[in-house]
Amino acid sequence: MRQIAIYGKGGIGKSTISSNLSAALHEMGHTVMQVGCDPKRDSTRILAEGKFIPAVLEEHREQLRIGKDEYAINLKNIVFKSPGGIYLVEAGGPEPGIGCAGRGVLTALQILKDLKAFSTYNIDVAIYDVLGDVVCGGFSMPIREGFAEEIYLICSGGFMSIYAANNIARAVQRLAKRGDAGLAGIICNSNGDEAFEHAFIPAFAKRLGTPFVQFVPRSPVIQACELGGRPVVEYAPDSQEAEIFRNLAKAIIENDSRVIPTPINDLAELETMYRQCLVKDKK
Ligand code: ADP
Ligand code: SF4
Ligand code: MG
Repeated sequence: MRQIAIYGKGGIGKSTISSNLSAALHEMGHTVMQVGCDPKRDSTRILAEGKFIPAVLEEHREQLRIGKDEYAINLKNIVFKSPGGIYLVEAGGPEPGIGCAGRGVLTALQILKDLKAFSTYNIDVAIYDVLGDVVCGGFSMPIREGFAEEIYLICSGGFMSIYAANNIARAVQRLAKRGDAGLAGIICNSNGDEAFEHAFIPAFAKRLGTPFVQFVPRSPVIQACELGGRPVVEYAPDSQEAEIFRNLAKAIIENDSRVIPTPINDLAELETMYRQCLVKDKK
């Protein structure tokens, strides 16, 4: 089974890209499970007609409340199927104000593993959509514990998204040494400044030692599909955007690169690289 994790700054488009990627992989014939690893549990909404599905940690708490353990959980109460046929899971989060959200996500992933969710549904690609502005110990756990094997970073031309991507690469550099996980590539989800993004993001990917995989434009079609609660390949199958997600799915399936990245440790170097490209672009 391929285990693909999508990391990036909050609001950068992780859930949008991962849902549309899941749908494109499903269209290619893969059996896909999308696992939302964000306590907001909104990762799978685009695939579930805009609805929130119940989360693994909620069901786990319910079992503990009645004196049982995770083995009493029925998979039917935590694994759902989208109208298009994609398996959906939301890890959920701890009670507000209590506990570590990252550890909660790891508990949920462990429950899926213990209950043999992946083999029960014959999943061949699992997509983890992981919250991670700054990779704290908690949210780097899916990497550390071997769930996130192929890590993709999403960023746009906005400096903070690049700063976050570089930070996540630093966490991968630290943790990948211990296991099979590696950085597999960078995806640009455009904020609209396309000329700058085309100039900067491939150069940034090269600096990190990882492939630049796909450019996704800022698009009203992508937003319309989100409002319709369906992924682009289902809602607007003939659009240019659907073709972009098909290309992304194909590129990811064909990509076997998993590197220990070479992130920029000196923030001043990152800022200089960014500014120099910005100045050239605006000339
Ligand atoms: P994240 O999961 O990283 O927090 P989301 O996927 O929820 O981010 O995206 C945040 C918002 O940006 C969503 O409302 C989504 O519709 C919008 N969005 C993301 N990518 C695109 C895009 N390529 N074109 C248009 N809107 C987008
Ligand atoms: Fe929150 Fe991360 Fe600290 Fe856990 S490790 S409590 S997820 S900040
Ligand atoms: Mg999200």
